[in-house]
Amino acid sequence: MTAIGKILLLPGDGIGPEVMAEVRRLLHWLETRRGVAFTLEEGLIGGASYEAHGTPLSNDTMAAAMAADAVLLGAVGGPKWDTLPFDKKPERGLLRIRKEMGLFANLRPALVFDALAEASSLKPELVEGLDILIVRELTGGIYFGEPKGIEDIGNGARRGVNTQVYTTEEIHRVARVAFELSRKREKRVCSVEKSNVMESGLLWREEVTTLHAAEYSDVELSHMYADNCAMQLVRQPKQFDVIVTDNLFGDMLSDEAAMLTGSLGMLPSASIGAEDAAGRRSALYEPVHGSAPDIAGKDLANPLATILSFAMLLRYSFDREKEAGLIEEAVRRVLGGGLRTADIMQPGKAKVSTSVMGEALVRELDKLEG
Ligand code: NAD
Repeated sequence: MTAIGKILLLPGDGIGPEVMAEVRRLLHWLETRRGVAFTLEEGLIGGASYEAHGTPLSNDTMAAAMAADAVLLGAVGGPKWDTLPFDKKPERGLLRIRKEMGLFANLRPALVFDALAEASSLKPELVEGLDILIVRELTGGIYFGEPKGIEDIGNGARRGVNTQVYTTEEIHRVARVAFELSRKREKRVCSVEKSNVMESGLLWREEVTTLHAAEYSDVELSHMYADNCAMQLVRQPKQFDVIVTDNLFGDMLSDEAAMLTGSLGMLPSASIGAEDAAGRRSALYEPVHGSAPDIAGKDLANPLATILSFAMLLRYSFDREKEAGLIEEAVRRVLGGGLRTADIMQPGKAKVSTSVMGEALVRELDKLEG
């Protein structure tokens, strides 16, 4: 069987290896039941890499990430490494890989499985069937803009400065990602900024509008101020399909949208970079949650965030819509059948371990495949 591409698995620390083991189960299923095989590599990142190599990300692993078609990461960090110097901390490994892979667009879906609609902080009817995708600009804006810093301004007073700055190129490349992705969805993009009070926001709106008119007029484009978007997300979240926004607003709005879905253990994400000459995009997929040291090694972790990140990998890096959809449908059915890991447990449901959840998914996939 020929492999359709190369995936680097980076399980990381804490519950990372446990949830990654369940992805391996699905990789095995895809290969044996659907003939979809990948060349798999595995590497160390975070505390695990520090223990083995004295650094949270070795140059070899970094090179493997650059050579792979997609990287799937578990999580990094834990109390054992909290006192290390800054450059040795597990999180530095994550920052380095994100930076060197040039990942400028962060994709955060907020997807509510009907079986979990009760777990949302909103009324179930507001979130049932919710499926929105937030595309956040990741490498520009106020977190990186210059000048930045804290300075003394005399008389014991100080001044803190950050600069929100965006260029045409930065806006176009992230908007392009949003428009392209919307074509695989409902073809609706809402661009979010504060052009009423910020020049960078006005530029954002103008550039998105120009790009839309030139290349994406088949997609419905709307604009919204970020403060209104924050309100609309809790008032009527289903009005959105794809939201594209800057680094700062995206940071907040994606967390707000995430909470509509109930649990950290259910949230996938993807970060993607520029296309190379061969049309291949660097891409890193990871659950939103961390390494959950409080439950690590106990077979308690919810593997679904990582499994849904893997479904995103199949869809976005390999165009395997069919297989991505099968995995998402299996998740829907397992939840519909009443199985829950501890973090999403509800009265009257069956509490299961990480591995039992993974086994149940494979059983559903078998049924779906017939
Ligand atoms: P966390 O996401 O690891 O855990 C927060 C809470 O949610 C914990 O109670 C945990 O048990 C629970 N939880 C998280 N994921 C779960 C899952 N899949 N199934 C069931 N329960 C789950 O956040 P934290 O406790 O703030 O951080 C713990 C460590 O993770 C720290 O070292 C932090 O730096 C690191 N961290 C890493 C990442 C990452 O790798 N991307 C992200 C956030 C935090």
